[in-house]
Amino acid sequence: MTLEGARERWVRTGGVELCVAELGDASNPTVVLVHGYPDSKEVWSEVAGRLADRFHVVLYDVRGHGRSSAPQPLRGGFTLEKLTDDFLAVADAVSPDRPVHLVGHDWGSVQAWEFVTVARTKGRIASFTSMSGPSLDHFGHWINKRLTRPTPRRVGQLLGQGAKSWYVYLLHTPVLPELAWRGPLGKRWPKILERVEKVPRGDYPTSSLPQDAAHGAWLYRDNVRARLRRPRPDAYAHAPVQLVTPLGDAFLSERLYDGLEEWAPELARRTLPAKHWIPRTRPDQLAAWITEFVTANEGGAVTSTGAGTGKYAQRFGGQLVLVTGAGSGIGRATAFAFAEAGARVVAVDRDAESAVRTAELARLIGAPEAWAETVDVSDGQAMEKLAAKVAGEYGVVDVLVNNAGIGLSGSFFDTTPEDWKKVLDVNLWGVIHGCRLFGKQMAERGQGGHIVNTASAAAFQPSKALPAYSTSKAAVLMLSECLRAELSGQGIGVSAICPGLVNTNITSTAHFAGVGAAEEKRRQKRSARLYGLRNYPPEKVADAILRAVVRDQAVVPVTPEARGAHLLSRFAPRALRAVARLEPPL
Ligand code: NAD
Repeated sequence: MTLEGARERWVRTGGVELCVAELGDASNPTVVLVHGYPDSKEVWSEVAGRLADRFHVVLYDVRGHGRSSAPQPLRGGFTLEKLTDDFLAVADAVSPDRPVHLVGHDWGSVQAWEFVTVARTKGRIASFTSMSGPSLDHFGHWINKRLTRPTPRRVGQLLGQGAKSWYVYLLHTPVLPELAWRGPLGKRWPKILERVEKVPRGDYPTSSLPQDAAHGAWLYRDNVRARLRRPRPDAYAHAPVQLVTPLGDAFLSERLYDGLEEWAPELARRTLPAKHWIPRTRPDQLAAWITEFVTANEGGAVTSTGAGTGKYAQRFGGQLVLVTGAGSGIGRATAFAFAEAGARVVAVDRDAESAVRTAELARLIGAPEAWAETVDVSDGQAMEKLAAKVAGEYGVVDVLVNNAGIGLSGSFFDTTPEDWKKVLDVNLWGVIHGCRLFGKQMAERGQGGHIVNTASAAAFQPSKALPAYSTSKAAVLMLSECLRAELSGQGIGVSAICPGLVNTNITSTAHFAGVGAAEEKRRQKRSARLYGLRNYPPEKVADAILRAVVRDQAVVPVTPEARGAHLLSRFAPRALRAVARLEPPL
């Protein structure tokens, strides 16, 4: 997407001319997007295009950037007071009668914090979405608090943020930054963004970059030291704030926003696993969150993304999560945990009724939307149809949980080729189909995501009683590791979950090879009783799954016996081999 087709106007204010672009119907609520450093308004082109259907989208080049003129002299021309004048002039020009919804990234957010906390803008701002740019006043208080009452933790936080701010010190040196940006750094910047920040090429950065970056150094010089030394004591937000925090930001620590509720009483928090330049790398997610927040603050009904509750709501609210085997046990508990966090859930199971039930309950628990799909994961064609339907109707999946699986017990020689085929078709091929189809959509979208594959402790604990099942799960574990390596550069995490004994229906449906129907029933009952006595709830596995996504963990043994077996497999494999020879208790 580009800003082509945008309507352009010029706004004169305080001796500069600002280049303002507008998209969408001007009678819709106005959303003003403010860019950061070293950027121009084009940093927003992907997000702006996604918002233009529903909103009047306004972008402007900050003074001295893009096609806006620069103040003369530069020194003293970039103070937050002057930037506030510019914002008010733009807001008056594009939306004279209605307050606007502000969105700022990086320095665009730093200045927007000023706009939303000074008295003269009261009534002109309906909401503010902040990303990767704190208020200098709040930052100043944050530092002071840690200096005046230092604890080891607070000193650690100070040092951590201090290390991330190296470029701020550099930008305060005279002339050097300008020389670097107009010289080699300016030339290399697009490549650096692509390589380090994974920013895809497009209409950004624009050719004005060296000039923008040279002028923009004054943003730092005119404001940072003065504000950090003497932060305003009354920097309270007078509009609702949505804070979007990318967890992999190389320049800002998450801890900076601790206690922000004190300054912004109406605060909604969102986190996402991404680096600093989210307007370029995560436009779908940002557009969805901005749409929800603006709509809510316009008094409209919010349907597309969820607010969610619980400890993972900030991370999964509004995300699209697909869980296979969601009709029972671990899959159902996982669908519910994501629903509680406000995710939109697709519950897939070969058993139609139980999938529908999971979707119904997921909606009650908190999913803004939930759908049931009846599919056998081992059927490649059916999975292809499912992938096409999901992409077409619900969107690209953000989190995929390949969980459907079946149990199979019996010695190697009792296990028939049909038994092998069945267990590998579901437990391994089901995972392969899921990864191939939904993983490809994630990779092609290029905006990250996460794949969770339910393996088992049996993946690293050999057993003479479970050769086929364990082989299928060991394959899932290895597949997950390989795929994790392959997708690591694309912001897509892959986790293998390895539970021990969990109290679910799997025991009553597991096949016992080499025995008659009556004996099979008896063994199913006995193992169900054993798992019942062990009584490890699937909800705990679900919790481990959400945590694995948040922390991007590679292999997650769940239950003490799984953790023990995992440790032994690494440090004492002989002990595991001895356990493998024991008669199963069934
Ligand atoms: P469960 O039997 O309670 O649930 C499995 C669900 O998957 C069922 O709803 C079932 O209908 C569905 N399913 C089975 N085959 C399917 C197919 N071909 N296509 C679509 N859906 C299918 O079992 P659970 O314990 O919740 O198992 C979930 C996963 O966890 C499985 O992969 C299992 O191997 C794994 N696991 C379970 C345990 C445990 O102790 N329960 C331990 C380790 C790993």
